[in-house]
Amino acid sequence: MYLSDKRAKKFKKTLDRLYVDLEELLGSNRVPCDQETLLHMQDAFGAQHYHREHGLVLDHAEGCFVWDKSGKKYLDCIATYSAIASGHGNIELIGAAIAQLFKMTSAPNRFINDTQPQLLKEIATLTSQDGVILMNTGAEAVDTAIKGARRWAYREKKIPENTAQIISAEGNFHGRTLNAIGLSATEKYRKDFGPFPKGYIKVPYGDIDAFAKAITPSTAAFILEPIQGEGGIVIPPDSYLKTVREICTRENILLIFDEIQTGLGRTGMLFGGCWSGVHPDGVLLGKALGQYVAVSAFAARKDVMDGFDPGSHGSTFAGTAFPCAVALKSLELITRDNFALVHNSLHMGVYFLGQLRALNSPMIKDVRGKGLFIGVEFDPKVASPDLVCATLLENGLMAGVAQKTVRFTPPLVITREEIDLAILIIERTVQELSSKKTAA
Ligand SMILES: *Cc1c(COP(=O)(O)O)cnc(C)c1O
Repeated sequence: MYLSDKRAKKFKKTLDRLYVDLEELLGSNRVPCDQETLLHMQDAFGAQHYHREHGLVLDHAEGCFVWDKSGKKYLDCIATYSAIASGHGNIELIGAAIAQLFKMTSAPNRFINDTQPQLLKEIATLTSQDGVILMNTGAEAVDTAIKGARRWAYREKKIPENTAQIISAEGNFHGRTLNAIGLSATEKYRKDFGPFPKGYIKVPYGDIDAFAKAITPSTAAFILEPIQGEGGIVIPPDSYLKTVREICTRENILLIFDEIQTGLGRTGMLFGGCWSGVHPDGVLLGKALGQYVAVSAFAARKDVMDGFDPGSHGSTFAGTAFPCAVALKSLELITRDNFALVHNSLHMGVYFLGQLRALNSPMIKDVRGKGLFIGVEFDPKVASPDLVCATLLENGLMAGVAQKTVRFTPPLVITREEIDLAILIIERTVQELSSKKTAA
């Protein structure tokens, strides 16, 4: 028994009330605000660090759909930047979360809990790595990988202290901390946030010669996305990752894949790196690892993990019972029935890509992707990616902007019928934008 009878009774009563008194259970401090009031509060008290979709406040979600406060329904082709794999409101995931909240949420990380060991083993097995460190956000996992690579470089590769270099690829996205934007070459992420940590070298993505030339005796690691996400769904040339792997092995450089977005089925394979058959020395996971909760991980070879000794790394909430329980369920859902969800991503991705190409619109300049990791370039002379997304939203579809590309990353549970709906909305949007342009 986890609970005294008294607490169990109280809890059962609460669960029974969930659907009837949801608003009340969420808290009396949440006054039922209309959209206008909430928008005003957000503007008044929040920073302006996101391009907001103005005029709407999201309220609730189920499966592949999200509703705003006015009751308008949207097909979600952003899925919280690929985090939502099993769809919104997945009852098993919610159940696992509630059950763990009930049992124990967190305890100091000096003590081992009964969920973290299982999650560590599961991640190590899925990634075929020797060890795992859990963090909260993706950017923190990136920081962890940098620390791990540097320790390894000094202690194993015997590079002189404070000289280690990490190579990254231009157009990357590794998150928003100073280290993550230190790895970035994208001006809008970096402007007026310097000075940045030293030791980061950037090379063009997909360019083997540039990578080979950037290597010095002090190179510790090459960190890159197997397919760039925020960079605009950029798929590297065929043999690129294979050759990168060969060079890293030859030069004793760690190859670290940032699979925070491409990982766990998004691209139709368990990992984006599977498309090239390349096994990295370290892997970063986040987003779909926790789906509804921030959980991230750095998994790596034993000699890299061994660099982390007591006191060298950690975070208050990372690896506590609650996020681990949710992530364990998330991985169970993704791997269940012989990876059925990953297969769905692959098959629905092929269907989505095919239907997009079949639109055959002169306004669509390029369609590319793997699995449900899809980018479309629209003719910028007709409409900017921002205008395309705003019009899609008006028509009931949420899509994301990634540089010059409009990105479609629906939950991995999406069905053929839902993709047909997406195509219908995209087709209507393209027609509207083209006729507006012709009229102008
Ligand atoms: C989203 C993302 C990150 C950062 O994750 P956060 O949880 O937002 O910190 C890092 N790398 C890639 C490839 C991502 O897509």
